Amino acid sequence: MGTAFVTLADIEAARARIAADIVVTPTVDSPSLSEKFSVPVRLKLEHRQTTGSFKLRGASNAVALLSTGTRGVTAASTGNHGRALSLAAKRRGIPAVICMSKLVPENKLAEIRRLGAEARIVGASQDEAQVEAERLVAEDGFSMIPPFDHPAVVAGQGTLGAEIVEQTPDVETLLIQVSGGGLAAGVAMAVKTLRPNVRVIGVSMARGAAMKASLDAGRPIEVEEKETLADSLGGGIGLDNRLTFAMCRDLLDDLVLLSEDEIAAGVRHAYEQEREIVEGAGAVGIAALLAGKVRPKGPTVAVLSGRNIAMDLHRAIVCGTWRDARERAA
Ligand SMILES: *Cc1c(COP(=O)(O)O)cnc(C)c1O
Repeated sequence: MGTAFVTLADIEAARARIAADIVVTPTVDSPSLSEKFSVPVRLKLEHRQTTGSFKLRGASNAVALLSTGTRGVTAASTGNHGRALSLAAKRRGIPAVICMSKLVPENKLAEIRRLGAEARIVGASQDEAQVEAERLVAEDGFSMIPPFDHPAVVAGQGTLGAEIVEQTPDVETLLIQVSGGGLAAGVAMAVKTLRPNVRVIGVSMARGAAMKASLDAGRPIEVEEKETLADSLGGGIGLDNRLTFAMCRDLLDDLVLLSEDEIAAGVRHAYEQEREIVEGAGAVGIAALLAGKVRPKGPTVAVLSGRNIAMDLHRAIVCGTWRDARERAA
């Protein structure tokens, strides 16, 4: 493995650094999935993390590692990373400016502001928001905290993997979400260093799976971004990807893709059988099992990575009417 990879030592250091910032989320048995697949299936309830996703781990670690002279932090992210960075910065008394386009819905804006950051609206696309974030770095002395391709972020996300091994020492199969690959890279590094024989299987949505297309091509490539129920898994991996592409390539045993109906079935199962409210991205591990895309061998852990979903969409998924609702809105 390349020396530039984040290592278990980096992850253990991150764990000590962010211990006061994050919740050690529980892992629980899933009686219904265990019965269905005749192996113990357990769920890591990371959607209950503060801010509603694991992203607080990486953001807290990156903010804690900043030099004391920094003027503030910035990112062009409207979703879970923006939320997490806002809170991580506020807790350490560092100004945060989250750059976003005017297309971002009002509720997401309000959430960023509630967490204590400035939501800066620039331009009509995420690209223009990115330009403003880069300007803050170049001209105003801000530090950019990217959502995945950053060693401190990957190490922070990896702390989830160390918890999984402690909570389920006999784990043999692990299902982990993949978008930009920060979560999967960190978690796979922790788990495979501690337990080399664990199968770590990435899961993405079929619509716009940038990491899968890049792994197939042998280098980072761009794919068209499409609307999906797993919206937190959308977006590219960056053509100049430095870290997560190589780590996912070398550490994941497989990367499976799911249809929208399969993702919806995962959200519905989480609610009806496990009594957990998760967003589309959070449900893809369960969904991959239910869809038969991954055959669980031995004790199996699926990570529920986030819960930030609009409740009207969640209701429509549970009721099976989300396609109609989407067509009416279009
Ligand atoms: C960001 C995110 C992911 C994917 O994480 P990456 O590090 O980008 O691969 C998965 N689930 C949720 C809920 C997320 O917010």
